[in-house]
Amino acid sequence: MTPPDQIRVLLPLPLAEPFTYRTGEAGPLVPGDIVEVPIGNRVSLGVVWDGNPEPLPLAKVKAVLRRCEAPPISPALRKLVDWVAGYTLNPTGAVLKMCLPEPRALVEPPPMRQILRSGKTIEMRASAQRDRVLQIVAERPGLSPPELAEAAAVSPAVVRKLVELGALQADQVPAFRPPPPDWRRDGRALNATQAEAAAGLRAAVAARDFSVTLLEGVTGAGKTEVYYEAVAEALRAGRQVLVLLPEIALTQQSLDRFEQRFGAPAWAWHSEMAEGRRAATLRAIGHGEAKVVIGARSALFLPYADLGLIIVDEEHDASYKQEEGVIYNARDMAVVRAKLESIAVILASATPSLESLHNVARRRYAHAVLPERHGAATLPRIDIVDLRKERLPAQRFISASLQAAIRETMENGEQAMLFLNRRGYAPLTLCGACGHRLQCPNCAAWLVEHKRHGRLQCHHCGHQQRLPDTCPSCGAEDRFKACGPGVERLAEEAAMLFPEARLAVMASDTANSPQQIGEMLTRMENREIDILVGTQIVAKGHHFPLLTLVGVIDADLGLAGGDPRAAERTHQLLTQVSGRAGRADHPGRVLLQSFLPEHPVIAALSRHDNAGFIAAEMAERQRAGMPPFGRLAAIILSGADQAQVQQVARDLARVAPHGPGLTVLGPAPAPLHYLRGRFRERLLLKAVREIDVPAVLREWLSKIRLPSAVKRAVDVDPYSFL
Ligand code: ADP
Ligand code: ZN
Repeated sequence: MTPPDQIRVLLPLPLAEPFTYRTGEAGPLVPGDIVEVPIGNRVSLGVVWDGNPEPLPLAKVKAVLRRCEAPPISPALRKLVDWVAGYTLNPTGAVLKMCLPEPRALVEPPPMRQILRSGKTIEMRASAQRDRVLQIVAERPGLSPPELAEAAAVSPAVVRKLVELGALQADQVPAFRPPPPDWRRDGRALNATQAEAAAGLRAAVAARDFSVTLLEGVTGAGKTEVYYEAVAEALRAGRQVLVLLPEIALTQQSLDRFEQRFGAPAWAWHSEMAEGRRAATLRAIGHGEAKVVIGARSALFLPYADLGLIIVDEEHDASYKQEEGVIYNARDMAVVRAKLESIAVILASATPSLESLHNVARRRYAHAVLPERHGAATLPRIDIVDLRKERLPAQRFISASLQAAIRETMENGEQAMLFLNRRGYAPLTLCGACGHRLQCPNCAAWLVEHKRHGRLQCHHCGHQQRLPDTCPSCGAEDRFKACGPGVERLAEEAAMLFPEARLAVMASDTANSPQQIGEMLTRMENREIDILVGTQIVAKGHHFPLLTLVGVIDADLGLAGGDPRAAERTHQLLTQVSGRAGRADHPGRVLLQSFLPEHPVIAALSRHDNAGFIAAEMAERQRAGMPPFGRLAAIILSGADQAQVQQVARDLARVAPHGPGLTVLGPAPAPLHYLRGRFRERLLLKAVREIDVPAVLREWLSKIRLPSAVKRAVDVDPYSFL
């Protein structure tokens, strides 16, 4: 029996189990309470956890320092933490850390922002500067002292002096406090199919019970308009809504659109936010003040006061997979959270994942379908440029057909987009004299030339260097040749072919903040750009009324290699990109440049045969026992000493689980067998659906003690096979 004043406290640190503490002066405490505890010689925040503590000798048990004035962590979120830790084989504390990304934010008072208003009239020496300041305060109340000084073009000292004299009064107000969104506002008048889908979603939200609906609709069908109805329903019930987006790039556009629809801003959540803003947002989420949060995958684990609905937009997107630290898929964990919270979740996509479609087929998910673009808009025509027949000149990447189509588009005063999923200038640089390829010193990867920065970069570890003057292998001077295209090089070619066109390049390294991306999109919308060259960052979600031509430079790019999801992913990506072309009165056209026109993915795209592709791919997955019909888990071992890593991998393989419905493949060097200075070996576990994969993994991994120099990562339901 543990003494009644002993409790378990989980710390947001990579520790598997909660620690035992005495309630001490802080008691009584209940699970979910946020507390401060001593750990080593530090003080940490922790959460009182469920379950009975390990009985410990009294002398060893430290006391909780204090209970924090913060909303407690709900039972559903505590269960989610335990569940995710168990499923992904991560320490519970590491998962808790994702719930409390700014631990202090919840327990400290909100920062205040000083604003100024004019005080009583007082006698003072008038000056042009002072007059200007007072006039601006009268015209534009609510400025902070630095803003006011800037607006009046005076030094901060002038403003300070006015405050001192009492001519200005300083008020403290919370930094960001938008009005709540207004669910009473009408959205767009929905067409019949949209209305039917919206009614289903509204009912799912109103049911206050767990449900999953796959909202499937071609790009431009109005999925967003439809799920806004579900948002309105949740807001009507006074509850919070989380909208997950796969890319930060989409946030600004999504925030703008939300504000137009509901008359007040939503709260953003993503990794690029300033610390203060994150803290304020976390607090608003915890206190239920943030009614709608639009965010990246990490927003899923935040401590919402009363979550009523989760929407996962572009649910098929691989960016929902977090590949580092706690490896999880936010789409899947959103479903788990919805289940634990007994709420509705909506998965929206034009190209749903096979997993979600399979769950629809098994009747576990409801299905709302919007088969057509809204209004008069039709889907673009998709043509293949067969690069085997239409040969490209050396070091050129835009075919004559595509060139002609771009010319026609320019002549019509419309816009074109060239899509190539490769950042930088050239993916490979080699020595023209000896053929030596410039490689990253830390990874088994080529260095990518980025002309914009005048540097070579490794896209895996971030290593950067200048282009050397001489070849490190043969010493030849100035003989380096760029091989293959990246978006920068493609833009160079487009500029040469269309010198009069206004061109812009958009990739995650040219536009990486929501603001920058927002600006680029606005320029595109305002027709300040004729040709937009971009990576997958341009593929998703944006609507450009005058974009009528999409040229896919290398449709085969994603199909190479042994990635079991290659076909599905390429199909999704190219469907997304194609969906950018054409709107109501400007029908669109897509040209896919390919060396593999007969490949099922390319052929299906050109016929708009989505269903046919899905059916064929499903059959293939079923035959191979691959997801969604079977389960996969990967174990990646890495270390600086290759022989040691290989030895551990072999040892692990020797004690691999076996039995009906279980296969272990490997060990084999990972495709990226050297990364950030570490050699990598992979093992892949394949199992039938009925098998509890995390349990099997736990049992298996417990048999081997890893040397400390070898790191292990477990990837349940892998998306990336690098
Ligand atoms: P999706 O999310 O399926 O790509 P959106 O919801 O973004 O589609 O809609 C595509 C475009 O069509 C948007 O500009 C949207 O405002 C417009 N639209 C969709 N449905 C309607 C409607 N019922 N009435 C007016 N405009 C609509
Ligand atoms: Zn590298």
